[in-house]
Amino acid sequence: LSLTDPVELHRICVCVRKRPLNKKEMAKKEIDVVTIPGNGVLLFHEPKQKVDLTKYLDNQLFHFDYSFDENATNDLVYRFTARPLVRTIFEGGRATCFAYGQTGSGKTHTMGGDFSGKAQNSSKGIYALAAQDVFTLLQQRRYAEMDLCPYVTFFEIYNGKVFDLLNKKAKLRVLEDENQQVQVVGLQEMPVSSVDDVIKMIEKGSACRTSGQTFANANSSRSHAVLQVILRRRKQLYGKFSLVDLAGNERGTDVSSNDRQTMVETAEINRSLLALKECIRSLGQNSEHIPFRMSKLTQVLRDSFIGENSRTCMIAMISPGMSSCDYTLNTLRYADRVKEL
Ligand code: ADP
Ligand code: MG
Repeated sequence: LSLTDPVELHRICVCVRKRPLNKKEMAKKEIDVVTIPGNGVLLFHEPKQKVDLTKYLDNQLFHFDYSFDENATNDLVYRFTARPLVRTIFEGGRATCFAYGQTGSGKTHTMGGDFSGKAQNSSKGIYALAAQDVFTLLQQRRYAEMDLCPYVTFFEIYNGKVFDLLNKKAKLRVLEDENQQVQVVGLQEMPVSSVDDVIKMIEKGSACRTSGQTFANANSSRSHAVLQVILRRRKQLYGKFSLVDLAGNERGTDVSSNDRQTMVETAEINRSLLALKECIRSLGQNSEHIPFRMSKLTQVLRDSFIGENSRTCMIAMISPGMSSCDYTLNTLRYADRVKEL
């Protein structure tokens, strides 16, 4: 798949990625409840009873644009998901790629990969792989002549508030002007001149995400992280690629915790993931009404859901173990709903 081939892209691409069973799950001899036979097909084996699981499995079939099994590398996943969208931003469009799924399912592994940058290609994440392709295209003559300048922003949305990961987690305001343009006031937009520059930003932001000083770092799995690669032409916004590591979706069904802070967080995560689903669906239906004001996440991504040249890819991550099967089924159903009609 070449970066510049004029292939017809769907506006929405929905994929699933299954991670391998981890050591803990293997030690517990957990059953793998997901089979991926190929061609985008995914078979979910729902245990009918919590006894003798090998005998009572209810098979459910799902179809996605691509289904990646536990042997897929980040590089492979990237090539079929985010990579075709790189071209969109060089055409002046908006591209978004979302990693969705429960905590521990592989969202950060897929998006961030190995931040050290010293690793082989296959352990780089989608952030770095996309940056690599952006710089490759910037050097091609047809784009070099366009005088495009690349920038990066990296921020986190926690509890409906925006924090700048490239500026000591400064809390930022989101404003909507009279032309309905949404602005994150004061968001640092860093000029970058190489892939290494981008990797440094990713490292800096990721470290800030997990070890910052404010309360908002309490648990990175409860926040959405957004890395944007922006192309400007003569200072004007030209193209934008938003790569989003979403908050874990598991809390929606977790009713065991009833401390207030957790409940507020949960409500906010649920609201934003619901809003995201609705906004992507309206993009797929070319709908006039986009409910982007339903959450801060969809508000800051507003221009990704409108316009002729907006493309979205969602990668739903799943943990294959039996103990995760309720969450996995939730994730599969969510991804199924997002698909273009
Ligand atoms: P999340 O961000 O969804 O909470 P992580 O990306 O942190 O999950 O993944 C949890 C653990 O599983 C990490 O140790 C990660 O390295 C590992 N992991 C996730 N996906 C894969 C995969 N496809 N192959 C190998 N290990 C993986
Ligand atoms: Mg994570």
